[in-house]
Amino acid sequence: MNRPMQEIFGSMVFNDSVMQERLPENVYQAIRRTRELGRGIDPSIADTVAASMKDWAVEKGVTHFAHWFQPMTGFTAEKHESFLDFSDEGVIMTLSGKELIKGESDASSFPSGGLRATFEARGYTAWDPTSYAFIKDGVLCIPTVFYSYNGEALDTKAPLLASIETLNRQALRVLKVLGTEANHVSAMVGPEQEYFLVDKDLFDQREDLRLCGRTLYGAKPPKGQEQGDHYYGAIKPRVEAYMRDLNEELWKLGVSATTEHNEAAPAQHELAPIYGDCSLATDHNQITMEIMRKVALRHNLVCLLHEKPFEGVNGSGKHNNWSLSTDTGVNLFAPGAHPQENAQFLLFITAVVAAVDEYQEILRMSVATAGNDHRLGGNEAPPAIISVYLGTELEDIVTSIITGAVYDPQTKEEMQIGVHILPRFSRDTTDRNRTSPVAFTGNKFEFRMPGSSLSVAGPNIVLNTAVAEMLRRYADRLEGASDVTGELNALIKDELTAHRRIIFSGNGYSQEWKEEARRRGLAELPTLPDAAPYMVSEKSVELFGRHHIYTAQELAARNEIYLVNYCHTIRIECATMVDMARRQILPAVAEYVGELARMARDKQDLNISVSHDRKQIERLSQLLEEADRLADLLEDRLAHAPEDDRQKEAEYFRDCILPTMEQLRSAVDRLEIRTDERYWPFPVYSDLMFRV
Ligand code: ADP
Ligand code: MG
Repeated sequence: MNRPMQEIFGSMVFNDSVMQERLPENVYQAIRRTRELGRGIDPSIADTVAASMKDWAVEKGVTHFAHWFQPMTGFTAEKHESFLDFSDEGVIMTLSGKELIKGESDASSFPSGGLRATFEARGYTAWDPTSYAFIKDGVLCIPTVFYSYNGEALDTKAPLLASIETLNRQALRVLKVLGTEANHVSAMVGPEQEYFLVDKDLFDQREDLRLCGRTLYGAKPPKGQEQGDHYYGAIKPRVEAYMRDLNEELWKLGVSATTEHNEAAPAQHELAPIYGDCSLATDHNQITMEIMRKVALRHNLVCLLHEKPFEGVNGSGKHNNWSLSTDTGVNLFAPGAHPQENAQFLLFITAVVAAVDEYQEILRMSVATAGNDHRLGGNEAPPAIISVYLGTELEDIVTSIITGAVYDPQTKEEMQIGVHILPRFSRDTTDRNRTSPVAFTGNKFEFRMPGSSLSVAGPNIVLNTAVAEMLRRYADRLEGASDVTGELNALIKDELTAHRRIIFSGNGYSQEWKEEARRRGLAELPTLPDAAPYMVSEKSVELFGRHHIYTAQELAARNEIYLVNYCHTIRIECATMVDMARRQILPAVAEYVGELARMARDKQDLNISVSHDRKQIERLSQLLEEADRLADLLEDRLAHAPEDDRQKEAEYFRDCILPTMEQLRSAVDRLEIRTDERYWPFPVYSDLMFRV
């Protein structure tokens, strides 16, 4: 990297400083207000902004623009159009305000969960001025929201923006009663992204990796992650070159990738950006995943974003660090210097605890995918039961508030809200407990359940809306109170008492916790089909309807998409397993068995004992038969999946397909460790994990 960082960072982004430099002052101010207040754009300035954006892009050699959007596939989509306009005077390059603000595209190949009637396939994209336009692969990408002819959201961005807005509104109401000045409250997000890198030549030889992004077979290698020598270990030169390249590409796009290190599993790594506002952070994470994959290919590597690419070692997650910040620069999850600020801090912490408890099932559902189901509850991943970890200091305070127990052992005093000055919570006294799904880490909450390939839009929509709902109730109560301080004290105590069951600081992996969680009445939802009904429950419809995030119909549509994706994923995995077994594994082992049999006959001719050969041949033949039978069974079951009811279909895949896939895998893995490696048809775990 020869160019200075200042020149690289954001060089491909039409960001605030570019706008300030290029737009007339009044237009720039209008855009700023739009961004800060999260409002729609004033059409009268759109032409000016569009022309300036186009000039800026053309200077960088760009000829095309695209409305960039985030359909419910979890990926991003873009439809390219050129700036070229053929007029009487010849060819000119234009981008009109209309083209900037609104686009139309055929929505029929994007998932809509039944929202898009077949006769009305049009979808519309509308510029989201809260996010910056950028140049990617020589195309000017304009961030947009995507909606149907009837105005239903067809993407993840529109509901995310709505959730950010409702959270802002309710938080401001609360701050106003408390006498805190602020014009805007933003959800701030910093997603830590985990991933695996494998050599592309090896990747190409495995049909499961190519088609499913994860290994469906593979015996445990002699060495895994047990020595812990990979975590924060020295980064290999090839990986280092990749990270350097990746950082530079991300920096150009204004993504502030900062930390990078090796993760616990061999070949696993992590990248974290500096946190930013929720909408931009979501865009940036989508961009990050795309660039990670793309840059890997330049290094003859493949970046795996699957939640569980390898059995037996850690899976990959995406820790969603989340906090609330005012436009005056105050983090509402950091205790302040005065007692009154601490009352405010406690109220906002309480809102999160209450929101996570009350909407735990919906929060769980927001991270449910076929891939993430393999991860939750596994190595280094939080369990599928949601709880909140507060750290010992904060938990003592909570206990003192609820029970009136002594909070400060030195003074033997109870915690008095609005009287005590709270300590700053250092990260060390908060969380290093990796088993917690929602952990308070000093001045933010870390939601650790999202899987590595997930868009963070989904979980943040739920977090934002659920916390907004709690703040709405609190504002109602406080606004009507004659004695605000007294009411605040009572409210915090009532709420913490009511939601105390969600607070847990022990080992989330343990069997005792499962039992304890059951006693506390917490939801245990290990799979997507378990969680899906909660998305369309009365509670969910009430929550999202009240805050104008989703209508009941939109929720039903999203639920349908989750279920369909789940079934598709498992169907493809199952078919891939059967295909690999039939066309690669069984023939290879049969050939090996044939060779062993020929050698045994030769030995018999020489009167040499063949008892060992016989045993080996018998064992392999038995496993071959078992694998063959299971492949048949899977094929048969795939053909008989129920088709009339999505929920039933998903349950069928979970109960009748997944366990049989496990059995087939187990038979094949036993074959793998007994077969001469020269016969095994594809690279094994030790190749994939240790040859980068
Ligand atoms: P960890 O020890 O959990 O890896 P880091 O300090 O590396 O923690 O931070 C992880 C992520 O959290 C980073 O992306 C960082 O920008 C983000 N983060 C830090 N403070 C906040 C905050 N107040 N709100 C939201 N995200 C934050
Ligand atoms: Mg973290």
